[in-house]
Amino acid sequence: MEKIPWDGLYHILDKITPLAADCGKLCQKRCCSLREEGQGVYLFPGEEVLFPGGEDWYTIKEYGPGAGHFTGDRGLMLNCAGSCPRERRPLACRLLPLAPYMDSEGNLNIILDSDALFICPIVRAGDINLLETSFREGAARIWGELIRSSVIREGVRCYSARLDSQNSDPWTRLLGG
Ligand code: SF4
Ligand code: SF4
Repeated sequence: MEKIPWDGLYHILDKITPLAADCGKLCQKRCCSLREEGQGVYLFPGEEVLFPGGEDWYTIKEYGPGAGHFTGDRGLMLNCAGSCPRERRPLACRLLPLAPYMDSEGNLNIILDSDALFICPIVRAGDINLLETSFREGAARIWGELIRSSVIREGVRCYSARLDSQNSDPWTRLLGG
């Protein structure tokens, strides 16, 4: 597997947040708290090196292939019980509410993650321009680096194909999804 510079990627959105104000205060940190028992944050393939265990704020669980976004063949989930040392939060937490979309020519675009529609009020607002420019640029840099991994690139391709399929569904179009 291609080596991903996790520390450098974490650093890009270390201090930059989706909105200038703390969006967690607007929604009571729904992305940290609104989940069923046993659910958590999916890790990117290889990101688990940053979470070797032995700390009391998370556990790691393994799932089968196709477990979630961009997880590759061996889906790993970090379960955090809703709080963490901020500087350690996984990459998926830093990137929410943005996701990658790859068009048929392989060009990468950054979009609102419709899978977070029911959690995140920013996604429901439907306007990516509400987000800080520096946040959007940071997310684009991170995704540009992540898709150098063939496993993650394939995950992005599958996610994008699913969006294409959803968007061509007449019910989705009718409901404005
Ligand atoms: S759910 Fe959306 S608005 Fe709320 S803290 Fe998470 S990213 Fe911010
Ligand atoms: S790891 Fe931290 S930022 Fe991510 S969901 Fe858990 S508490 Fe929220």
